[in-house]
Amino acid sequence: MRCPYCQNERSRVVDTSHESRGGVRRRRQCLDCGQRFSTYERPISATPLVVKQDGTREEFDREKLTQGIRISCAKRPVSATDIDRLAGEIESALQAMGRAEVSSRVVGDMVIAGLKSLDQIAYIRFAIVYLGLGDLGAIRQEIDRLLES
Ligand SMILES: [Zn+2]
Repeated sequence: MRCPYCQNERSRVVDTSHESRGGVRRRRQCLDCGQRFSTYERPISATPLVVKQDGTREEFDREKLTQGIRISCAKRPVSATDIDRLAGEIESALQAMGRAEVSSRVVGDMVIAGLKSLDQIAYIRFAIVYLGLGDLGAIRQEIDRLLES
């Protein structure tokens, strides 16, 4: 940790305090210029927090995601294994981003891309809710786009 005053990398810890949310605050003194500064460490869970449209955050919930995909795939020839695999791939992709937070849109886009190649009816069902396709015209446009591609 560099000293913010002189950029020297060597400092000694003067005081350490643990916070209720798992963070650790350390008071340090630079061994070069003698200035004191604080550092704060906090654990970042491997999977980013999901920031919803309204700005609130929630833990990524793989079970809930699986459930959402399962509902879209109801009575479609999509196996439970495929659904689990898609949810697992999305979770891994989120972890690989190495970010503390990610927009719910990013998660939704991943589901939609996955469903599109898995089952087109399941995709349309999910898209109606997720993309907010509010009328038959919008749904038809989406279906036309699928048929063209
Ligand atoms: Zn310094």
